[in-house]
Amino acid sequence: MSTYQTILTAIDCSDDSPALLARAASLANSTTDIHLIHVIEPLALAYGADVPMDVSELQGTLIERAHGTAEKYASTIGIDKERVYVELGSIEKTIQDKARQIGADLIVVGSHTRSGLALLLGSTARGLVPGAHCDVLAVKVDPKKGSKD
Ligand code: AMP
Repeated sequence: MSTYQTILTAIDCSDDSPALLARAASLANSTTDIHLIHVIEPLALAYGADVPMDVSELQGTLIERAHGTAEKYASTIGIDKERVYVELGSIEKTIQDKARQIGADLIVVGSHTRSGLALLLGSTARGLVPGAHCDVLAVKVDPKKGSKD
């Protein structure tokens, strides 16, 4: 099988992120482009439509900060700033849309062991697969240990 040429790595900017980037880097060769995305859910979407204040300024600050963090993670494996995206939207759809837009042939995401309510709600990785146009790699991560393999 040929090597992936365009890999989109989705990070939540948690401690899992280096393990995901390391996995993406391990699947790349010298002609592969690795991109990174972090999605911010719109505040009104996350907390209900009737947030009693103008949240646009707060969102702007969050996006700016997230850009700084995402760029720091990206630089650890040499991803250029132009390939770092911080987007506002619903997580799964925004990742799928970006993957399509850049012609990704692989999306790399983390996958946590789940139980209780989290199990019922389902994981980001599971939500991504149905609408993704390309392969999706769910990398098992444990917050305490990083990538499990
Ligand atoms: P979960 O198992 O649902 O907690 O998903 C964790 C993984 O989903 C993370 O390691 C990321 O790959 C991806 N993910 C979760 N939230 C975001 C986000 N806001 N932006 C980009 N990717 C995310």
